[in-house]
Amino acid sequence: MARMPMMAGNWKMNNTISEAVVLTQEIANQYEKKEWDEAVEIVLCTPFVDLKPAKTVLDFDKVKIEVAAQNVYWEPSGAYTGEISVPMIKEIGCAYSIIGHSERRELFGETDETVNKKVKALVAEDLGAIVCVGESLAVREDGSTIEFVTAQVRAAFAGLDADEVAQCVVAYEPIWAIGTGRTATPEQADEVCAAIRATVAEIADEATAEDMRVLYGGSMNPGNVDALLAMENIDGGLIGGASLKAESFVQLIKACL
Ligand code: PEP
Repeated sequence: MARMPMMAGNWKMNNTISEAVVLTQEIANQYEKKEWDEAVEIVLCTPFVDLKPAKTVLDFDKVKIEVAAQNVYWEPSGAYTGEISVPMIKEIGCAYSIIGHSERRELFGETDETVNKKVKALVAEDLGAIVCVGESLAVREDGSTIEFVTAQVRAAFAGLDADEVAQCVVAYEPIWAIGTGRTATPEQADEVCAAIRATVAEIADEATAEDMRVLYGGSMNPGNVDALLAMENIDGGLIGGASLKAESFVQLIKACL
């Protein structure tokens, strides 16, 4: 079966509740049930406080758009001031959480080990992880991108069985392309996405690898999306800047049809 593309907007730390409701409503207003329902999985990865308001808008309009968190903590509850657990986002109706975004790795001390704990906590509650991997410019320039990224994939899925890996999505996001306007070429991106898929085949199995969505993220926009999605191993996008305006995000969704 062909993989259903995914278009996931990573709002990062943008949009107050009132702004989130407006943006979600603008996207929902353009939802084309007949064309989109079976063709693309759409996900809004919002700040925690926006999850419930966005979900309420989407449920009221009966559109098939998921909400997802941008991070979670691995313990289900307890004395972890400032953290949010998987059961908390599950009750809101989240389908996924982004895990291991490079901004969390660089700014908030996320490691391969904590990524793995978070992925395990999500799949144990039957939620999916959108696991972000990607190399810095220094790693790309010294020629070790594939080694670096596939090691991140192995670490993220360590100790998971194939069924659990199958609940997840991997987003390849070269750090040098995030928020910089500099995109990986389709060939550069596809080469790494193919290596990610091959790694999933090794650590899970061929069928899981064949079915897994591997997204590209890093300055994807309406001008470069077609060339990226045309590549064999790129099954959609994790979108930062271009997900903050309904017009550009809807254009990216339509590129998946
Ligand atoms: C991201 O932060 O996941 C991202 C891909 O950002 P941008 O699209 O702005 O490069």
